[in-house]
Amino acid sequence: MATTSKKFYASFQAGQSEHFVQFCETDAFLMDSVSAFIGAGLRAGDAVIVLATKPHTESLEERLKGDGLEVAAARVRGQYVSMDAAATLSKFMVDESPEPGRFAEVVGSMIALAAQGRRHVRIFGEMVALLWAEGNRAAAVRLEELWNDLGKTHSFSLCCAYPMQGFGGEVYEEEFTEICQQHSRVIPAESYTRLSNADERLRAITLLQQKANSLEAEIAERKGAEEQLRVSENRYRRLFEASKDGILMVDPRTGTITDANPFMTELLGYTREQLLGQELWRIGLFRDREANLEALRELREKYVLRYETVPLHTKDGQRRQVEFVSTLDQANGHSVIQCNLRDITERKRAEEAFLHLAAIVESSDDAILGKNLEGIITSWNAAAERMYGYSAEEIVGQPVTLLFAPDRQDEFTQIMARICRGERVDHYETVRVRKDGTRLTVSVTISPIKDSSGTIIGASAIARDITEHKRLETKFRRMFDSNLIGVLVSDFAGTFLDANDAFLDLLGYTREELLAGTMQRDALTPPEFHSLSQNAVKVLRETGSSGAYETEYLHKSGRRIPVLVAVTRIEQTETCMGFVLDISGRKELEKRKDEFISMASHELKTPLTSFKGFLGLLQRRLTTQGDEQALHYVARMDAQVNRLTKLVNELLDLSKMQTGQLDYREERFEVDALVQEIVENVQGTTQTHRLLLEGQIGAEVCGDRDRIGQVLINLLNNAIKYSPQADTVLVRVAKDQNKALVCVQDFGIGIAKEHQHKIFERFYQVTDPEEKTYPGLGIGLYISYQIVKRHGGRMWVESKKGEGAAFQFTLPLV
Ligand code: ADP
Repeated sequence: MATTSKKFYASFQAGQSEHFVQFCETDAFLMDSVSAFIGAGLRAGDAVIVLATKPHTESLEERLKGDGLEVAAARVRGQYVSMDAAATLSKFMVDESPEPGRFAEVVGSMIALAAQGRRHVRIFGEMVALLWAEGNRAAAVRLEELWNDLGKTHSFSLCCAYPMQGFGGEVYEEEFTEICQQHSRVIPAESYTRLSNADERLRAITLLQQKANSLEAEIAERKGAEEQLRVSENRYRRLFEASKDGILMVDPRTGTITDANPFMTELLGYTREQLLGQELWRIGLFRDREANLEALRELREKYVLRYETVPLHTKDGQRRQVEFVSTLDQANGHSVIQCNLRDITERKRAEEAFLHLAAIVESSDDAILGKNLEGIITSWNAAAERMYGYSAEEIVGQPVTLLFAPDRQDEFTQIMARICRGERVDHYETVRVRKDGTRLTVSVTISPIKDSSGTIIGASAIARDITEHKRLETKFRRMFDSNLIGVLVSDFAGTFLDANDAFLDLLGYTREELLAGTMQRDALTPPEFHSLSQNAVKVLRETGSSGAYETEYLHKSGRRIPVLVAVTRIEQTETCMGFVLDISGRKELEKRKDEFISMASHELKTPLTSFKGFLGLLQRRLTTQGDEQALHYVARMDAQVNRLTKLVNELLDLSKMQTGQLDYREERFEVDALVQEIVENVQGTTQTHRLLLEGQIGAEVCGDRDRIGQVLINLLNNAIKYSPQADTVLVRVAKDQNKALVCVQDFGIGIAKEHQHKIFERFYQVTDPEEKTYPGLGIGLYISYQIVKRHGGRMWVESKKGEGAAFQFTLPLV
């Protein structure tokens, strides 16, 4: 047994009331101390009360017996009383606290009973130790107090025992002091009491003091660390709660969500409770479970996962883009996964819009550049490179004045002054210089560039090269001002906006009248030409140019002026430019020519008729005389007279047509019969070609049979005339819906595309220097065309040069 305890228990004065506490590190030491205390009492004839746990009671009694004490006999004599500590406690504990009255009654009566006839009472009590071990430390301290109170009325020595390990921890410091204060004596545990001499003890105390100091220091350090941890935990919490990133905590074993911050729930549209316990793929983060598991596997391998763009579907079906970063960390010995999701939908949209804009800027045909307020170039598009000859690498960072012509350097200050006032400089025409030193005329629009707070930080300049435009404008201006030809500018509605002097003089108006808007196309055009000018506007809108057409304008005096007009659209505007040529002189000449033709053909017709008559008389006389030779000459003369008559007739028809005096008869006739008759007649006059007739329609048309016949004769004669190398001409009659279609096809020289629409004009003949010339006046097709048109039909040609021609016309059937 330990020396100090032994000494204490040996020096323990019987009959002296005492409440001491024994601390112990092991059960064995406890039993040593207690058995010494109790054993000494039994030997001295003191009453002994043991209020211990069953194992301690049994162990104590064993030891007492071992020391030669008769415990059973003492029990019988009433000198030794043992009660179960827990059972005794239960007798006076009320609501987890010892009830003073009951305690005094239960324990007091026990002491009183044991004390009868005895010198002193010794008690070994473990009830406080039990309460302590249960964690009900307040009750333990209270019970110690009650023992002390009991000591005031009863005489006894009480030994309490506490296992030392029950005080391991800083929190118990106060209560430990309290317990010690409740006792009249405190006996340290064995590691101290076992020491035999004063030196050793002093050393042990010093060691303990040092230990206590270092422990205190450690505790202070730990407290600091804990405080820091708490602060950082709080900080993290606040970050977690307030973060504008969605944060999810995930259990790595199950892959399920264990926490989600408010932003996350807002982003996804689920409540926190709906998210907890879910796997990530279920809330639309991964495509499916397999992808989710794959990501977890990868995370376990790499500890960090980062996806630039992950599509995310919110609860209400929205599609958003998030940046996803996930980490696998250790916290308090556990693995945790933290996923940070940043909503980058807006950023992506902005990026796309930016790229879109950048693409527009890059593909623009205008030079676009950015500069800061000091005039240093900050951006430069491809068109700028083409226009000025500098690459972006060369020019970005250089002053913009590098592009300014030497004599225009001061423009920079003027422009920037306006920019700094927030103004825009629109379509400013100036001269710039290319890298190679050549000059170009540009139209520039300069606008201020503002930052997000609205502060002007620079300017953008959009420049268009108008050098060519300027050159053309100067040329055009010269032409406009030369007044060789009338030039006007008009809107599509027909108001003349501008005109040169030549045009104003032609119509007799002043510039003031023009600028007042009084010159309107319709008012200046005789009514019968309105549809013509409307048609010209239609063609102009469709094709950008009206083509040249003849019309008439009204002079201010009311006089008509025949003009040749060509109108062209001014690019990208609703305005057009017209060129007007006065053709009064030409028309006058044409009129006189027509009058001459009319007169000449009439004058020629009369002598021809009598010539023809006398030739007939001559023919009859020579026939009677039987002069074959002379008859032959007369026949040849007759053929030439017929040719001449035909030409004169054509000229006559032409002039009649011009004056509208050509008469048409109205009768019904069969198309088949007419065509056959004409084909036979023409065949009778030609030996070179075979005329093949195909098709019959058995239908009638209404009109002038002779004139239609004349058309067919014209076409057949042409077909023969213009196919000298061929020997066949095909004539086809067919029915096309409610029209008769007649086609005359030859295999001759053909007509090139560019002549095809012109051959129906008066006097038009295709002249090709490589080909031989053909006799004729160029009026047969004109007359034929007019006749068919007059009958409500249409005439056209299909041909290729060198491959023959197919002239066709239609006539409405009755
Ligand atoms: P012409 O008296 O000159 O034949 P037309 O008015 O009959 O006058 O024809 C006009 C022009 O059309 C001719 O000069 C000729 O160049 C061309 N032409 C007419 N018919 C044919 C055809 N069948 N093949 C080729 N060219 C033709």
